[in-house]
Amino acid sequence: MLTAKTKCIGILGWPVEHSLSPLMQNSAFVTAGLDYIYVPLPVAPPALAAAIEGLKALGFAGANVTIPHKVKVMPFMDHLDKNAQMAGAVNTIVLKENKLYGYNTDVDGFIRPLLRQKVLLAGKKAIILGAGGAAQAVIWGLIQAGVAEIAIGVRDTAKAKPLIDLFSTYTGISAHQLPSASLNDKLRCCDLLINATPLGMAPHIAQEPPVNWPLLPAGSIVYDLIYTPRQTKFLQQAAACGHVTMNGESMLVEQGAAAFALWTGQPAPLEAMYAAIAAHFV
Ligand code: NAP
Repeated sequence: MLTAKTKCIGILGWPVEHSLSPLMQNSAFVTAGLDYIYVPLPVAPPALAAAIEGLKALGFAGANVTIPHKVKVMPFMDHLDKNAQMAGAVNTIVLKENKLYGYNTDVDGFIRPLLRQKVLLAGKKAIILGAGGAAQAVIWGLIQAGVAEIAIGVRDTAKAKPLIDLFSTYTGISAHQLPSASLNDKLRCCDLLINATPLGMAPHIAQEPPVNWPLLPAGSIVYDLIYTPRQTKFLQQAAACGHVTMNGESMLVEQGAAAFALWTGQPAPLEAMYAAIAAHFV
C-alpha cells in the first residue's frame, strides 16, 4: 500500500511509455518487500531543469534517466561517479540530503552478463559496431575488464574520433569504416563482436549491420544490445555460424539491478527482475 513513507523513484525520458523499467523495478521492490514505488515521468527536453528541481522538491529517493536526457542531465549533478564520467552519461540518480549523485549503470549492466557466463575478457580483442552513447559505456566497461584491443566499426569514422581521443590512453583502440577491408582484418582475430547500433531493432527487424560472417573465428561471442526482438537478424546470423550469442535483455536487467542496489543499499532480486522482463516478452 502506498503511504506518506513510500519512497518514490522515477524514470525521466521523452517519450517514456515504452520503458520496461517500471515493470521490472516495481516487481523488484515487491519481491524485496521494500516500500518503494517506481513511476514513469515523461519530461519534454525544455522541462529537464524543472523536472530535476521537482525531484528534489518532491523528495524523490532517486531516478533513472533515459533518452534524450542522459547527457543533458550531467551538469545538474552535485557528484558524478567514474563510470558516468567515462561513459559521458548518467542513467541513474540517487538523491541524498538534497544532493544529486549521478551514476552510469549501463557500464556494469553490459559487463555483468558476460562475467556471469564466465567469459574471460582480459587480453581479448573486441569489435563494437556503432559509436553512440551505448558504445561509449560498453567501451569503458571493456577497458575495465582488461580487453586488450577494441575496434569500432562506424559508417562515419569522424564520429568515432571523440571515443578514440578519450580511450586511447587506456587501451589499443581504432576506428574503421563499416564495412571495410580494415574492419574485416579486425574480424579475423576478433573474440567478441558487439552490435551497439539500432540496426535490426523492432520494427525494422529485417535490418542488420554489414558483417562478413565467414571471417569471424569459430566460437566467438556475439552480443547485440538490442532486446526487441530477442533474436535480431544479427544474432540469427551469428547463431547460424555457431557463435555464442547474447541479446540486450540481460544488460537491461543488470543495469536495473545495479540501480536498485544504489537506491536501496540492498542487492537486487535478480531472478524476479529477469522473470518480470521475460514475462513481458512471452
Ligand atoms: P545512439 O547514441 O543513437 O548511437 C547509435 C549508433 O549507431 C551511432 O554510432 C550511429 O551512427 C549508428 N547507426 C545508426 N544507424 C545506423 C545505420 N543505419 N548504419 C550504421 N550505423 C548506424 O544510440 P545508443 O543509445 O548508443 O543505442 C544503440 C543501441 O543500443 C540501440 O539499439 C539501443 O536500444 C541499445 N541499447 C540497449 C541497452 C540495453 O540495456 N540493452 C542500453 C542502451 C542502449 P551515426 O552517428 O552515423 O548515426
